[in-house]
Amino acid sequence: MNKSKEIYQEAKKYIPGGVNSPVRAFKSVGLDPVFIERGKGAHIYDVDGNKYLDYICSWGPLILGHSNELVTEGIAEVVARGTSYGVPTKIEVEMAKEICEAYGPIDMVRMVNSGTEATMSALRVARGYTSKDKILKFEGCYHGHSDALLVKSGSGTLTYGVPTSPGVPADTVKDTLVGKYNDIENLNEIFKANNDIAAVILEPVAGNMGVVTPSMEFLKELRRLCTENNTVLIFDEVITGFRLSYGGAAEVFGIEPDMACFGKIIGGGLPVGAYGGKKRFMDMVSPIGNVYQAGTLSGNPLAMHMGLKTLRILKENKDIYSQMERKATILEKEIQDFIDENKIPVRTNRFKGMFCLFFTDGDIESFDDVMKCDTEKYAMFFKKMLDKGILLPPAQFEGWFLSSAHTDEDVELTIEKVKESLREIYN
Ligand SMILES: *Cc1c(COP(=O)(O)O)cnc(C)c1O
Repeated sequence: MNKSKEIYQEAKKYIPGGVNSPVRAFKSVGLDPVFIERGKGAHIYDVDGNKYLDYICSWGPLILGHSNELVTEGIAEVVARGTSYGVPTKIEVEMAKEICEAYGPIDMVRMVNSGTEATMSALRVARGYTSKDKILKFEGCYHGHSDALLVKSGSGTLTYGVPTSPGVPADTVKDTLVGKYNDIENLNEIFKANNDIAAVILEPVAGNMGVVTPSMEFLKELRRLCTENNTVLIFDEVITGFRLSYGGAAEVFGIEPDMACFGKIIGGGLPVGAYGGKKRFMDMVSPIGNVYQAGTLSGNPLAMHMGLKTLRILKENKDIYSQMERKATILEKEIQDFIDENKIPVRTNRFKGMFCLFFTDGDIESFDDVMKCDTEKYAMFFKKMLDKGILLPPAQFEGWFLSSAHTDEDVELTIEKVKESLREIYN
């Protein structure tokens, strides 16, 4: 038995499923997880000494690669000064200013400790501001694990959500409507049937059902309907923020949300989230307003240090974005060409530097399209890639995360291994 398996056996005794977040268990690819010892740049090393080219990158935060010295620089001094005070620090102000200056549509931001907290809190503010209860989310978008957002659409024509997890009372999701991503008609029907929607929340490019790009018309219609109905439009930029561009999806599409949520990249690998909006919304938040939201470790110096360093490096090196896009484009083109030549029922999908493979040959515009994927084939593919030293997301419905540390050679190697793996599966 190798060390990963040994640790996994022990882990399962003390941690549910042996992991602290479900996808890490490799369950949907039918394998046991590898346990990681360290990471450097684009690579991670497991406890058995195997080296992997990493396309998980902590699910997005590590846009500058593992253990980037420019990011970790000075962290020991921060620790030496103290790691949390429960009273404010200057670096929190610098962080808030950095985010507000980067992200055009927002004036103010509040730090929290996860993306889950960010979306949950933003929705509370939107409901407080509008004095309305209903919220609309889209099937296939993930916004963390708060009760009101763990929903899928009900059967038939029902737009009301049903809980996707035991433990979520039906009453908790009774005000959560579930729409179809990229479906303008469906969107209009929902607004017609509900004149009391406080907020719409979406991933402005979906990254949690694989990568699914919204149509410009869909985003524009969303903006129009929200304005018309006094509904707060919330972009969940936990993945897209500081990844698609320094100004996030709002900048890329030229569509202004009323509020936005961040996480992942802005923590530089430490636990962080943030939500922000125009002043009129953020003035609702306590202690100025009455919408309560708090956090013992929110804005702690370690997370602020790593996050701020990451943001400043990105700001000063914007070519990181064009380089990541260029690399993702090479992945997309070379793999898609190979798939087409060999008539393999797989397709690539990419937006800017966000990329993934779908094991279906249909177009991918919606959650329904994504659901047509052959997850067993993906599991086979994942295992072959892992055996060849490339760690992909251990689930079909996730994007591949590139970092600035992924070199052209890494990309070429990946393409070769993808071709080999697909050949082995489909021949
Ligand atoms: C990861 C993610 C979240 C949740 O963030 P956590 O820090 O895991 O709570 C929310 N929204 C999106 C779009 C995400 O990708």
